[in-house]
Amino acid sequence: MTARTVNAQALSRDEVARYARHILLPGVGMAGQERLAAARVLVVGAGGLGSPALLYLAAAGVGTIGIVDADVVETSNLQRQVVHSDADVGRLKTSSAAETVATVNPHVTVVRHDVRLDASNALDVLRDYDVVIDGTDNFPTRYLLNDACVLLGIPHVWGSIYRFDGQVSVWWAGHGPCYRCVFPEPPPPGAVPSCAEGGVLGVLCAAIGSVQVTETVKIVLGLGETLTGRLLVHDALRMTWDTLPVRRDPGCPVCGDDPSITLATGLVDYEAFCGMPVGAVSGADPAAGPGADLPLVSVSSLAAALASETPPLLVDVRGDDERSIAAIPTAVAIHLDAFRDGTAYARRELADAVAAGRPVVIHCKVGGRSAEAARLALAAGLTGVASLDGGVLAWVHEIDPSQPEY
Ligand SMILES: [Zn+2]
Repeated sequence: MTARTVNAQALSRDEVARYARHILLPGVGMAGQERLAAARVLVVGAGGLGSPALLYLAAAGVGTIGIVDADVVETSNLQRQVVHSDADVGRLKTSSAAETVATVNPHVTVVRHDVRLDASNALDVLRDYDVVIDGTDNFPTRYLLNDACVLLGIPHVWGSIYRFDGQVSVWWAGHGPCYRCVFPEPPPPGAVPSCAEGGVLGVLCAAIGSVQVTETVKIVLGLGETLTGRLLVHDALRMTWDTLPVRRDPGCPVCGDDPSITLATGLVDYEAFCGMPVGAVSGADPAAGPGADLPLVSVSSLAAALASETPPLLVDVRGDDERSIAAIPTAVAIHLDAFRDGTAYARRELADAVAAGRPVVIHCKVGGRSAEAARLALAAGLTGVASLDGGVLAWVHEIDPSQPEY
């Protein structure tokens, strides 16, 4: 296969001792380890996938490791983001991750990018790297990274996780398809739940993130067959790993025969393309974004209203497992799916409230799903319906800190 062109960098005596098990490998040797020392790899997202990726890139002796993240470590990250520890909660993820990398291997250089990638900065951040590892969890950043990598000719080692399933591929223009060739359209906002909403098995991150590092090392060394042109699909519950062939689309807007996105035109508006705000690289609810037309209620107004003589009906559209972590007292559980299929309106509590002209406040975790449910209810002819701004997390934050955030 074709290797990414990386020059070699001479190793010190200490480094030779450290990397001896690599140097013994057929196809690696001293020359291969020197290539790793000269390689520059960018990890976008120091979260679930970025954590194992950073640890193994550091241990492998990849000489320059870039880390992109603008978020701080939260308690709910620690179940899977193993590059951070308990004492790091509240710190910038790039700072915590850079410190961990330095303790794993002092011979590597870390470059911190404490930014949220967007169309205005992505090309500048990515330009000097040999390989990009995609550890993002939202669609706008994923398409942005894809397009920037295609325009710069950088291999894009993509991974994705949800609940018990993972996927990996290497998108590389000129060698195989790009992400857009295989996934030309983002799903509608809210159609695909995020890990923050749907959950993710922590150790799945290690399985998928380590495959991403394997592919990165192979690209730098020019070893074996990468996942270029193949989609690796992992099901942890069945413990299966399948590969599916994927092809370049000659009509692809970025890597096709007549591209509409070029270095001359520049990158596009990825939030608009995906119909949602970029949000945080990790932990955010990408469906959040209620729009201007939807009535919103703050948690402080809700607390006052619930304590009044005429409290509104509060409806929680989350699942039972989420409700078992944190909940607002008096909330009635009516799942978002019931608003989608129309069965919600037959529920006695809701029907009684509507008949009595009692206001209805709908809530979820941060406001994305409740906004959808409120819109559906308004479209179904209900009046006096509002969505709780910031969801149960805002409630926990401002009203009842005794409950856990998640
Ligand atoms: Zn393409």
